[in-house]
Amino acid sequence: FMKANIIDGKAVAAKIREEIAAKVAELKAKYNRVPGLAVVIVGDRKDSQTYVRMKRKACEEVGIAPFGADLPATATQEEVLEAVRGFNDNPDVHGILVQLPLPKHIDEQAVLGAISVEKDVDGFHPLNIGRLAMKGREPLFAPCTPVGCMELLERCNIPIKGKRAVVVGRSNIVGMPAALLLNKRDATVTICHSATKDMESIVRQADIIIAAAGQAQLVRGSWVKPGAAIIDVGTNPVDDPSKAAGYRLVGDVHFEECKEVAGAITPVPGGVGPMTIAILLRNTLDSGERFITRDVKS
Ligand code: NDP
Repeated sequence: FMKANIIDGKAVAAKIREEIAAKVAELKAKYNRVPGLAVVIVGDRKDSQTYVRMKRKACEEVGIAPFGADLPATATQEEVLEAVRGFNDNPDVHGILVQLPLPKHIDEQAVLGAISVEKDVDGFHPLNIGRLAMKGREPLFAPCTPVGCMELLERCNIPIKGKRAVVVGRSNIVGMPAALLLNKRDATVTICHSATKDMESIVRQADIIIAAAGQAQLVRGSWVKPGAAIIDVGTNPVDDPSKAAGYRLVGDVHFEECKEVAGAITPVPGGVGPMTIAILLRNTLDSGERFITRDVKS
């Protein structure tokens, strides 16, 4: 009996970061310029501040120049838009991301739509999502977490073309773009959501499962076709008095059960999580390269 291959997202992400650092150094040597990433944060949510700090630190580690706007929770929509527009106009900034969620009084779609499509490294601009959905078109950027899922499949040599893929979840940031990316790579894709009936029989047909429902241990071992590849995006805190923090993180997949059936599976933590920031850095590198080499030509 074959045990599942446990996909080491941390190792893959570290490899990608090394590749990025080398390319940034190359740009620096050749053009004396480096890619720049601006992160806009509004308010003082602890989790958002942690993510933003991690992103800035990750930039520095690969040589990407970090920029930031730190606005108070009371900032007006116009002030947030001003910050975005300032970075749109700044030639040293090649990527802009707005840390979500925004405070309730700010229109998230208006802010995301104000980011220059060419600097939309999160891939949340409607034009980039639209291109992702269109045949024969390519977005400039696709959302980082689902791209990270695809990268794990590819770097683990898991075939995608012609395979059956099931995505559990259809959010704008994970489930839907994951389904669109799988479709672009010629998988046959089914999307499950909260109104899906008999989800387990649908999941059981999948060669590739991407779980992004935000429900702890939703996907059980009995739902999995033997040999299937499972990418678990979920990060759900569950009480655990044995941990100093009082909780631990579990995925949307029942790991212990599913690893006995799957061909390959990502753990939580250490699977998809580390990939998200690595892809954000790569999107920023791609953008910086595009701008910097274009500036040289013109
Ligand atoms: P959302 O809450 O925005 O979306 C959840 C989706 O899952 C919705 O489409 C919802 O359906 C569907 N869903 C919820 N419950 C069920 C259920 N019981 N059966 C089937 N479908 C269900 O979450 P996100 O997409 O933002 O995030 C998903 C998970 O991924 C979370 O655990 C989050 O923490 C994690 N995450 C991890 C990241 C990483 O870097 N590792 C990055 C981003 C997210 P409906 O549309 O009908 O409401």
